[in-house]
Amino acid sequence: MKELILNFNSKKITKIKNPKNYLGGKGTNLSEMGRLGLPVPPGFTISTKVCEFFYKNKKKLNLKVIKQIKKELKVIEKHSGKKFGDLKNPLLVSVRSGARVSMPGMMDTILNLGLNDETVLALAKKTSNMRFAKDSYRRFIQMYGNVVMGVESYNFEELIENYKLTKGVLLDTQLDDKDWDGLIDDFKRKIKEKTKKEFPQNVFEQLFGSISAVFLSWESNRAKVYRRLNQIPSDWGTAVNVQSMVFGNMGKDCGTGVVFTRNPSDGSKEIFGEYLINAQGEDVVAGTRTPQHITKKAKNNSNNKELSLEEYMPKVFRQLKKILIKLEKYYKDMQDVEFTIENNKLWMLQTRSGKRTAKSSVKIAVDMVNEKLISKKEAVLRIDPNSLDTLLHPTLDEKSVIKVIAKGLPASPGAASGKAVFSSEEAERLNSMMQDTILVRIETSPEDIHGMHAAKGILTSRGGMTSHAAVVARGMGRPCVSGTSEIKINYKDKVFKVLDTEVREGDIITIDGSTGRIILGEVPTLKPEISGNFSKLMSRADSFRKLKIRTNSETPLDTKIARDFGAEGIGLCRTEHMFFDEERILSVREMILSKTKEDRHKALSKLLPHQKKDFIKIFKIMSGLPVTVRLLDPPLHEFLPKNESEISDVSKSLKLSVKEIESRINELHEHNPMLGHRGCRLGISFPEIYEMQCQAIFEALVECKNKKIKSILPEIMIPLVSTESEIRIMKDLVIRTAKKVQDENSVKINFLVGTMIELPRAALKAKDIAKHAEFFSFGTNDLTQTTFGISRDDSGKFLNDYIENKIFDIDPFVSIDEGVGDLIEIATKKGRKQNKNIKLGICGEHGGDPKSIHFCSKTGLDYVSCSPYRVPVARLSAAQAQLKNKI
Ligand code: PEP
Ligand code: MG
Repeated sequence: MKELILNFNSKKITKIKNPKNYLGGKGTNLSEMGRLGLPVPPGFTISTKVCEFFYKNKKKLNLKVIKQIKKELKVIEKHSGKKFGDLKNPLLVSVRSGARVSMPGMMDTILNLGLNDETVLALAKKTSNMRFAKDSYRRFIQMYGNVVMGVESYNFEELIENYKLTKGVLLDTQLDDKDWDGLIDDFKRKIKEKTKKEFPQNVFEQLFGSISAVFLSWESNRAKVYRRLNQIPSDWGTAVNVQSMVFGNMGKDCGTGVVFTRNPSDGSKEIFGEYLINAQGEDVVAGTRTPQHITKKAKNNSNNKELSLEEYMPKVFRQLKKILIKLEKYYKDMQDVEFTIENNKLWMLQTRSGKRTAKSSVKIAVDMVNEKLISKKEAVLRIDPNSLDTLLHPTLDEKSVIKVIAKGLPASPGAASGKAVFSSEEAERLNSMMQDTILVRIETSPEDIHGMHAAKGILTSRGGMTSHAAVVARGMGRPCVSGTSEIKINYKDKVFKVLDTEVREGDIITIDGSTGRIILGEVPTLKPEISGNFSKLMSRADSFRKLKIRTNSETPLDTKIARDFGAEGIGLCRTEHMFFDEERILSVREMILSKTKEDRHKALSKLLPHQKKDFIKIFKIMSGLPVTVRLLDPPLHEFLPKNESEISDVSKSLKLSVKEIESRINELHEHNPMLGHRGCRLGISFPEIYEMQCQAIFEALVECKNKKIKSILPEIMIPLVSTESEIRIMKDLVIRTAKKVQDENSVKINFLVGTMIELPRAALKAKDIAKHAEFFSFGTNDLTQTTFGISRDDSGKFLNDYIENKIFDIDPFVSIDEGVGDLIEIATKKGRKQNKNIKLGICGEHGGDPKSIHFCSKTGLDYVSCSPYRVPVARLSAAQAQLKNKI
């Protein structure tokens, strides 16, 4: 594309391959709406390429771009019959950001641009509405002063609040043109005081200043945080849309609103939205006035008895309804639409795929297949696997006794309990100390995004279902109750009051985002039910995938949850985790600290019955499916006694003095425990440990067989192997012990022996290792640690710097890195070359990460194994990987 700027009506847009990359989502959709014959105010899009040039050109617009903008402005003037800066019929424009993907509220917008001390009078004359003109002008100064000149918005809000106090009124709508006149002067003075510059009267200076400010907002802190959380590359840049203004604040036959074509909370097929009479767009989103419903039905079902749009402007409502149907049919997805009504005429300002809860996205996908709008494949591809996480979250146990202290709007479903906090900073601080919080704000703004992410839930006293808090919380999957007007928040004293109840910072509260209830204290929650639309979607996904999904689990509870979620076996049972309870960990410590073989045997014989019992329980739950049991792999630092009482317990049971125990701990101390005496190295030094474990596994299998429980397929896995000899020696040990148990009980048990591939040498020498291994399971936690030489336990301290400096796009412990991926590919090829039937899987944390699952599917692994709650995420990701690999 050689054009840097394109008019919404330009025919060239239809020829661009990926128009969103170039014109952003908003620009592309505005031009598409125009082509669909919908009423869109004229305008043009400055492409993301210009954003790139802007940053390369010392953050300045170059002359060529300025010339083209002026040329395009002429086209708007022609369409609208108005002129920019004219003293009779002035054209006013909006300047809005528009990136490839929508980043709601993260970048800047400027409305009413083109007003100055003279054009404001022309606007007043033309519209015969002085109040409207002055109100628009002060809004513009306020926005420009904030966004372009950097004066913090509270300065302007304070001036308005003080003015209202002096005048003795409550609402902005009670201020007349004279009042706004006074405030306009105050605003200009404030700007001068803060910036030492005058608010510009030249309309072109206003325009270029605003366009530059929108480009600059791509690099604002909040946009950067949002990009990091949503994995949006920073080099995409934003486009800018310049569009003729239409006014929703010209009087009672005007208004503005936001509407979704379906319910974004639960997915029901009904128009869902809000509007405000005599207002501009930002009033709805900011939540400063509580909006009215769009439909009569929604109004009747709520406490807000103000007229719905359906009742107030029935003709406009009917037109809007038709447009919504048209848009949904065209985009084949639920749309989130912004509109303005100017003197009873409807204008469409934006349409985009609506953000929605996981519950709603599943229902919409299933319904759209039934409505023949999309295919089954599309439905499976539509759902963001990570979003399923929120569906699997608990709901409040309705049987428990609860004290509801207030009720707000059910803005984003799910239940959460935590300490009430009144600032995003406090939410973040407590989160870093692993404490759960509920962020309580009058309303949220994009500056709060880090706090909303750190908190378990969000509660606001103002704002509707499409307020910033509601939209962002839904997108993040955080429960949210908005518009709880009964609660009175006092930031200074860090307290909120409702009737005679006071909630101070640190008090525990619970919010229920599905019903809007605010409850004092913590409330027990219930496991979510996996049925209905969710299971329909899951079984559709299963029909497309080849990759098997197993789970990492070592307790009966987790194993049951995973099987209910659809796990097809266990891919990793970390046996050392089976010893975490108090009684058992003591025996493990005895085993580790014992000096003699005899002492070790004693400790082991205490552990054996526990192991056996646990295995039986797990094997029963997973009957009929493969179960990979990994022999002990305890990084010593995790298991050695640390404090006095732990040391004293071991000293008593081993009948050794505290001193002796301490000296033994010293002897065992390792500088790099993660690279120390762990994994099969322990099995080589102390074969009796692995023998006990194998005895427990095979005796458990015998018992299951005797009890006629359908057998599992046991897979015994050796950890941290790097050489052929290690696996050979360990395999012999397993076979020997298995034979002993089988002979003693005269039963035959089929089993496999394999290894983890979690060290680079093992990956490179996979051909030799595969001579003895019947399966490989990639331990990508250790493989990432050892490939990079970055400690798993310490990386948190500096990984953020690596991400900020763009050295890593994403934490390599979350998504498989390319280099680690290369090692997996090498090991896969070499392993299969040696043994074409070798089973291949992955059991590091990456097994539950959608991106890594795509990699595993492409590499041709047989299964991924992940934590129980990630099983549905992995099922869907595996299906998507299969479908995408085919495309
Ligand atoms: C791994 O290293 O990826 C793995 C699964 O083992 P662990 O996390 O127990 O070291
Ligand atoms: Mg490991």
